Amino acid sequence: MYDLAVIGGGILGTFHAYHALQMGLTVALFEKNKEPQGATVRNFGQIVPSGMNPKWQALGRQSLAIYQAIQQQFNISIVKNGSIYLASNAQEVQLIEELHQINKANDYPSELLTAEACLKKYPALRKDYCRAGLFFPDELSADPRYMIHQIQTYLRQNPRFTHFTQTLITQIDTQTNACKLTDHLKKTYQAQKVALCCGSEFELLYPHLFYQSDMEVVKLQMLRLQPNTSVKLPGNILTGLTIRRYESFQQCPSYQAIKATENPQAYHKKWGIHLLFKQEADGSIIVGDSHEYADAQHKDQLDFFIRDDINRYFIEETKKILNLPNLQIQTQWAGFYAQGKNTDIFYHNLHDKVHITTAIGGKGMTAGPGFALQNIKTIFNQ
Ligand SMILES: Cc1cc2nc3c(=O)[nH]c(=O)nc-3n(C[C@H](O)[C@H](O)[C@H](O)COP(=O)(O)OP(=O)(O)OC[C@H]3O[C@@H](n4cnc5c(N)ncnc54)[C@H](O)[C@@H]3O)c2cc1C
Repeated sequence: MYDLAVIGGGILGTFHAYHALQMGLTVALFEKNKEPQGATVRNFGQIVPSGMNPKWQALGRQSLAIYQAIQQQFNISIVKNGSIYLASNAQEVQLIEELHQINKANDYPSELLTAEACLKKYPALRKDYCRAGLFFPDELSADPRYMIHQIQTYLRQNPRFTHFTQTLITQIDTQTNACKLTDHLKKTYQAQKVALCCGSEFELLYPHLFYQSDMEVVKLQMLRLQPNTSVKLPGNILTGLTIRRYESFQQCPSYQAIKATENPQAYHKKWGIHLLFKQEADGSIIVGDSHEYADAQHKDQLDFFIRDDINRYFIEETKKILNLPNLQIQTQWAGFYAQGKNTDIFYHNLHDKVHITTAIGGKGMTAGPGFALQNIKTIFNQ
């Protein structure tokens, strides 16, 4: 019998397991695939509390400390190179100046950089794009396709941790004192409590709960450029369209007025595109992303195609922002995550035994570890 069974080996499930182990509990982690294949391995790996509203920024800042504490003991690919928001015109400069003041008041370090200082820090930047930048020195980057495996390898060193991969949980029975979990081969497991962190997999357990909720699934398109080894782009690079999109900027006094001047028919609005860059260790550069939406019950409306016009838009916009010698696409993919339309996370508790937590949206790599700590304390009444 385990103290906690965690279903879902993405970032949320993995950090529920991590914090429960830190509390001295016995934990089993179940993942249906051999290795996680959900949003947790399809993202940029930008750990950017600066992009979030005050509640989630606080959880993101807690996550910065959690990631760094693990990195000190075991390599999980965390690097502290900060995040830069690049303003491309007067409106965006206004917004970064206002966000700088807000973060000053929050005691969250940020530095306003002139265009010259940005160009010095990131020589690949185009002079005619960058007007100024807002730099957050404490922020982190990770290689998400490597990190989740490393965290799970780290957890496996703990004798109180058991990891079941290729184990799809198909049923949870709460009739008796403990919870009985059944997998796809009809094998059973017992645990005092269950944390279900299933990402956007709504069909497998409790579909009715998800279908009745305000949840939707979001499809994001991403690409990776072939290595540009002569170019150095340390940390997380966020651009003017991100300044106009990320939640944190909604706190800025000028935000509404500036948004009102935007053209609602613009191509990037139709596909929910903003431009972000993250360079990987081999010099390749991840570029994204776009956003398409469908209700939880109709998530199949989101097809699995990669749109060439979106790729071309990414490349054309990249050319306006960065001088890159190699713009050849190495690979491309779509990622999917769940989010609430009017809620910032989905949490549902069944008989104080099964705790369902999902729909952290685009915040999971940033705020997931901090949120999981808070949730584990709630689950175990601490
Ligand atoms: C393209 C893209 C870019 C992003 N960029 C960033 C970023 O830079 N920074 C950031 O903070 N966030 C980013 N995000 C958001 C972040 O990736 C997600 O918030 C986060 O990964 C969600 O994690 P999760 O654990 O909830 O879900 P998932 O990663 O989807 O994990 C759920 C897991 O549960 C498993 N599972 C489900 N049901 C069962 C079952 N019954 N039995 C066994 N296993 C089960 C699934 O197989 C899956 O592995 C991005 C997301 C995408 C898609």
